Amino acid sequence: MDATVMEEDMIKMATTLPTDIGKRFYIQTYGCQMNEHDSEVLCGILESAGYFPASHSGEADIIILNTCAVRQTAEDRVLGELGRLKVHKYRDPEVILAIGGCVPVEPGAAERILQRAPHVDLLFGTGDIHRLPELLERVQAGESPLIDVGGPDVRRPEGLPRRRPEGVKAWVPIIFGCENYCSYCVVPFVRGIERSRRPEDIVDEVQRLVGDGVREITLLGQNVNAYGSDRPDDVDFEVLLRQLSEVDGLKWIRYTTSHPRDFPLRLVDAVAELAPVCEHFHLPVQSGSDRVLHRMNRGYDRTTYMALVDYIRERIPDASITTDVIVGFPGETERDFLDTLDLFEYVRFDGAFSFAYSPRPGTAAATFSDQVPEEEKKRRLHRLNERQYEIAREKNEQRVGRTYEVLLEEPAPAHPEVYRGRTSANHLVLVEGPLGMTHRFCRVRITAAQTFQLRGEIIDGGGTTHG
Ligand code: SAH
Ligand code: SF4
Repeated sequence: MDATVMEEDMIKMATTLPTDIGKRFYIQTYGCQMNEHDSEVLCGILESAGYFPASHSGEADIIILNTCAVRQTAEDRVLGELGRLKVHKYRDPEVILAIGGCVPVEPGAAERILQRAPHVDLLFGTGDIHRLPELLERVQAGESPLIDVGGPDVRRPEGLPRRRPEGVKAWVPIIFGCENYCSYCVVPFVRGIERSRRPEDIVDEVQRLVGDGVREITLLGQNVNAYGSDRPDDVDFEVLLRQLSEVDGLKWIRYTTSHPRDFPLRLVDAVAELAPVCEHFHLPVQSGSDRVLHRMNRGYDRTTYMALVDYIRERIPDASITTDVIVGFPGETERDFLDTLDLFEYVRFDGAFSFAYSPRPGTAAATFSDQVPEEEKKRRLHRLNERQYEIAREKNEQRVGRTYEVLLEEPAPAHPEVYRGRTSANHLVLVEGPLGMTHRFCRVRITAAQTFQLRGEIIDGGGTTHG
């Protein structure tokens, strides 16, 4: 959305403001991009229902935590925040405290939360976020605490309102849910069965977003590569990428996440061929040990994974490859861990999100008897990260002197002359430039490298992103 549209929006909002400004809401989001996207929809739904956004929890009448259940630490953070929010309730008992997202959907979690935080008014689920206004009305009518998590399998209606932050980037969910049941993962239990959106609805949405000034979209799903397998038409993920590449004015297409088992080589060919599809592959490997991969129920082995990486490097030498990895999975021995380190040496990832295994209630791996001690998990995480940071730095150093196209984002408030930007391969670049470059695509020469970011100078400011 460009600045003028935003201003018009603000004016519209100002002219429709009733004298009593009405109830204000504040949403705090935890976890993955799907949750961030859901928060944008929650925001849109609440605004359409006559509520107004607050700039912080202290001035809100309704506080919503959109939660993540993927690891215990994420859940603990929510409980910690609930403790801190108690003060708002004491100050004003009318304040409504609502918990949404993945945590309330975990079996027994809603009751557990209410026990520890009885000041919570509403617990709702991931499936039917469009019912939030109705649930809030029930709470305001005195039905508190209200637990209505519904089922995670509900099909979300199309065309829900949404409030996107200003900018030229947008999330576009294409498939909800996951049925892979990796043995460590809670997601299938809290996000439900796989439900792909209709391809025409996705293309429509992207066209509208581009009409609003969007130039980069990120297609979202727990496993985008499974797109379409639950639908009667022949549009699979590759066909969808082809259709979206035809949308006039759309510059970059990203997607996350891909299951390596479902990434056929012909899809790599398609990424190589389709100009708007970015040169970035996020392929969560989880482990480099075949024995562990098997117990994780991942459905591929290290050789197949490495062959996929080889093919990507052969077809698209500049592509970046990033990953997610878990250390300390039940039964992981030093030998298994060394296999993971060895795979990291082989692939030389551009970046990795690494996690210590966290047992999740209800998942198969939580019941495995051979849990790894926490101290050992921490040690392995540290060893893996240290090596991966070196690799990332070495790879970034090789980029010094090269030129990339970069989409510039907002400058940091403290440094209005330094923009953050991303290359097609998703490398973060800090670029100094004159005012007014936000949301532009520029040619940038890399001048310095660090572990997690590059620095660069603009050599061609490009055009505006609009028109
Ligand atoms: N659907 C995506 C992401 C799922 S959650 C995918 O399949 O890749 C994001 C990451 O969190 C996972 O890739 C995994 O590395 C990590 N993760 C999931 N469950 C975990 C657990 N129980 N303990 C530690 N890390 C976990
Ligand atoms: Fe979880 Fe596996 Fe599904 Fe990813 S593919 S969301 S890790 S069950």
